[in-house]
Amino acid sequence: MPHTHKLNCVRRTVCVVMAVLILVFCAAFLQRRQASKTVYTKELFAMDTFFALRAYGPQAEEALAACEGRVEELESLLSVTREGSDIRRINQGERFGVSKDTFSVITSALELSEETEGALDITLYPVLREWGFTTGEYRIPQAEELQALLEKVDYRAVSLGGGLSDRVDGDLEDGVLTISVPEGMELDLGAVAKGYTGDCLLALLRERGVTSAMLDLGGNVQVLGEKPDGSAWRVAVRDPFGGGSLGVLEIRDKAVITSGNYERYFVGEDGNIYWHILDPSDGYPADSGLAAVTVIGEHGVQCDGLSTALFVMGKEAAVDYWRRHRDFEMLLVTEDAHLYITEGLTECFTCSEGWNAEIIRGN
Ligand code: AMP
Ligand code: MG
Repeated sequence: MPHTHKLNCVRRTVCVVMAVLILVFCAAFLQRRQASKTVYTKELFAMDTFFALRAYGPQAEEALAACEGRVEELESLLSVTREGSDIRRINQGERFGVSKDTFSVITSALELSEETEGALDITLYPVLREWGFTTGEYRIPQAEELQALLEKVDYRAVSLGGGLSDRVDGDLEDGVLTISVPEGMELDLGAVAKGYTGDCLLALLRERGVTSAMLDLGGNVQVLGEKPDGSAWRVAVRDPFGGGSLGVLEIRDKAVITSGNYERYFVGEDGNIYWHILDPSDGYPADSGLAAVTVIGEHGVQCDGLSTALFVMGKEAAVDYWRRHRDFEMLLVTEDAHLYITEGLTECFTCSEGWNAEIIRGN
């Protein structure tokens, strides 16, 4: 009898210990799950626009604080107006070793300029300034003024130096490589800087262990992974003719970047509307029949550069470009309110009421 009693006692103790362990494990599991759903946000005004950053998980708070520093660093290098920035120094004719960020964003932009046959041209700054898009003091330049300024616009004249051809490993270093432009030529990275910044912030978040985040950089959206509940991120695409959206994209690990003629414009003394995306072939606002272009892809810098370039190119050339490349998807809205989407978006794009999307297919 005492033996059975002892055995029962041991059994009971084992059961209690196991129950406690199970409870501890469950609590830890639930706590971890809860922690991975904890959201942290940060809002900033940078690069002339509002950034709203959202990230999930225990590492997110510190990672977002680091993002703020990274944005400040990039702006101080890439801003065309900030005294002492790499771009400003290049534009002033200084010869110096640029940061690897400056080098990287400029080489990406030049590749896109080449591929889009100059529809994207980061040497447009003097023309943009003449229109007042850099200062807000808008005016319509004379055709002759534009012609004279266009003499100094040509992305092919940007020189990359500093032993680039000797570098076999492809790793960039700060302060080694140089970038220079002929006298009178000036760079502006307005068409690509936000996309590049998004790429840098996502890399930083990944490095710090964040797996779920959504970054809104002045309307450009870049997402990391999926939502903590395992569903795709839902990103609304703005209706260029009104305040609402023309549909919603469901995406994971993608950039969604839009260029539209409604984003920055002025009404001239002649009553016409002039917007901020210029055609480098004549220096006038690109009048290609498109009201907005949204590019969806893996890399922010590519999507940003392309959204601007495809806007300049117009629908036919944009479709042709997409058919030749196929490493991104796009959504085009024409001035007469027709919506076109490439076939890769059929499963992940839902139109808002009143909109219908015609599908662009590959050949
Ligand atoms: P996004 O909003 O990305 O289309 O970029 C527009 C900005 O890029 C403008 O505010 C200008 O600073 C600059 N920009 C305008 N047209 C061009 C162009 N054709 N190529 C390169 N940059 C441009
Ligand atoms: Mg762009």
